Amino acid sequence: MADEPQSQPQWRTNPPTLFPHASSQAPARSSSSSEAKNEASKPAAVQRDEQGKPYVLDKDGKPCRLCTSAAAWRNLTKQTKASSAAAASTTTATQPQETISQSTGRGTTKPECPPDVEVLGRSTWTLLHSLTATYPEKASASEQADMRSFLTLLSKLYPCWVCADDFRNWMAEPSGKNQPRLGGRKDFGNWMCEAHNEVNRKLGKKEFDCRLWEQRWKDGWKDGRCD
Ligand SMILES: Cc1cc2nc3c(=O)[nH]c(=O)nc-3n(C[C@H](O)[C@H](O)[C@H](O)COP(=O)(O)OP(=O)(O)OC[C@H]3O[C@@H](n4cnc5c(N)ncnc54)[C@H](O)[C@@H]3O)c2cc1C
Repeated sequence: MADEPQSQPQWRTNPPTLFPHASSQAPARSSSSSEAKNEASKPAAVQRDEQGKPYVLDKDGKPCRLCTSAAAWRNLTKQTKASSAAAASTTTATQPQETISQSTGRGTTKPECPPDVEVLGRSTWTLLHSLTATYPEKASASEQADMRSFLTLLSKLYPCWVCADDFRNWMAEPSGKNQPRLGGRKDFGNWMCEAHNEVNRKLGKKEFDCRLWEQRWKDGWKDGRCD
């Protein structure tokens, strides 16, 4: 079914890049001057592993697990283990980066292991769409203000920082067309669906039919499979 989870996202089997939106070597720009200064000292956001596959660095310069798919992380871990073994056989080789060498990732992310970008994303979308499903049909000014603050903070604090940058930039599109529509549940639910579809498009995934968001996230499908 078109709106069901895609078991094999296109970019997983044939990734154009790990992060199609982060193909430039520079991290996304920030708006304030102090942030701009920090940006200057950050490492390039996208690096390439020994096989030329891209991966994303965290702001501290270590590979960002929460910005990376389990498959890409596993690949990186394998390579680092291999170079670690090679380094152990010589006295002059440099140490591999701590973050990678401590990783034990295998297969898809296991429930008891730290999340990758996909697990984090799925969980977060569940929270976000559930927030729209329980949002008042007509929201008061203070309910709208609370939700606006939540979204603003989420777009700053989301642990996959490249995702956060993109989400924040999308919401702040100069024409104002992507600003959260918080008057009531229907508007907010549709807005969230559009926000999610924006990421789906970016990742080369199928778009969701936004007319169906309430069945997916609030009432259950009309065919009764969720009853
Ligand atoms: C704010 C945010 C930004 C993100 N940015 C990035 C990014 O830049 N790069 C990256 O690699 N990953 C990003 N992610 C993660 C990405 O969106 C997916 O969550 C992840 O790739 C796993 O995808 P999935 O195919 O399992 O389904 P998900 O996209 O996680 O969707 C979960 C379920 O929601 C339903 N659904 C799908 N689309 C919609 C929609 N439009 N409206 C309502 N329901 C829908 C479907 O039933 C689907 O199975 C982001 C996540 C969030 C929350």
